Amino acid sequence: MSKTSYRHLFGPVPSRRFGRSLGIDLTPFKTCSFDCIFCQLGRTTNKTAIATEYVPAQEVLTELADWLKNDTAADFISLAGSGEPTLNSAFGQIIDVVHRECKIPVALLTNGTQLIHDDVRLQAAKADVIKLSLSAWDQQSLDVMNRPVDGVQFSELIKGMQDLRQICNNQIWLEVFLAWGINTAPDDVRKIAKLAASIAPDKIQLNTAVRPPCEDFARPVPKEQLLRLAELFETKADPIAEFSSDHSSQVQATEADVLVTLQRRPCTLGQLCAVFGLHRNEASKYIGKLLRTGQIVEQRKDSEWYYTGVHQAKS
Ligand code: SF4
Repeated sequence: MSKTSYRHLFGPVPSRRFGRSLGIDLTPFKTCSFDCIFCQLGRTTNKTAIATEYVPAQEVLTELADWLKNDTAADFISLAGSGEPTLNSAFGQIIDVVHRECKIPVALLTNGTQLIHDDVRLQAAKADVIKLSLSAWDQQSLDVMNRPVDGVQFSELIKGMQDLRQICNNQIWLEVFLAWGINTAPDDVRKIAKLAASIAPDKIQLNTAVRPPCEDFARPVPKEQLLRLAELFETKADPIAEFSSDHSSQVQATEADVLVTLQRRPCTLGQLCAVFGLHRNEASKYIGKLLRTGQIVEQRKDSEWYYTGVHQAKS
């Protein structure tokens, strides 16, 4: 099996939190209980809270076994990708197998909506790092920022996260996504900070639209403002550092690898060079060809160009 024939594994991709991260995509594009205004994947096409085995666990595990035979240079294996991973009812089983088969830590990136269920919390608590998201302080702001599927109650969402903390000794990192002028009034950020403290995460990370968001109006917060807002958190809140990885020099990439990565995650030229250990000239050559053949598009965000793979529906 070649890496480019994987349907559920992607990358390793550059991640500002997780270094060089092998992604496991547990949902079809784009299946999520949220439709966040800042989502870098675009709008949610299947907004749902129904959990099922969207992607068969056996297919994922076959690809993972193949990857582990050939390549184990990753800082994390991340359950993330085209939607909300905890909507896949087999996500806990996949964490178990990763732990059994290798020593690479597992990161679960979740919006937290499924944590209202006891069994989902038990499965989630097995991940080495659970990255939760919080960008709202009440139901109305949740509806604006995250546009959840009908039935998601803000109070239950927060309680699910607090209850996870009660049973989880592994790392819980809380990402607070701020969109300039939407959830950045100091009083509102103070309310988010208070809720964040009630969840007692090990880390709080502030994020903003450094990659092209789903909605143009989800504008990035200027760096000085982000630093000022970080001071409103009782627990130290860090704006997320730019990507870097010790493994970058060990990786070689083909044009197909670059395309698969860009189909999952918009990257700058510099990020591609960092994660794949490519020389700028070589990465530029791939980018140029992929642009000319319409397989990727470019989009300017502040002073940087981001490249995004044109999504191909899976058959
Ligand atoms: S929860 Fe994540 S995948 Fe879902 S819409 Fe929000 S940012 Fe996108």
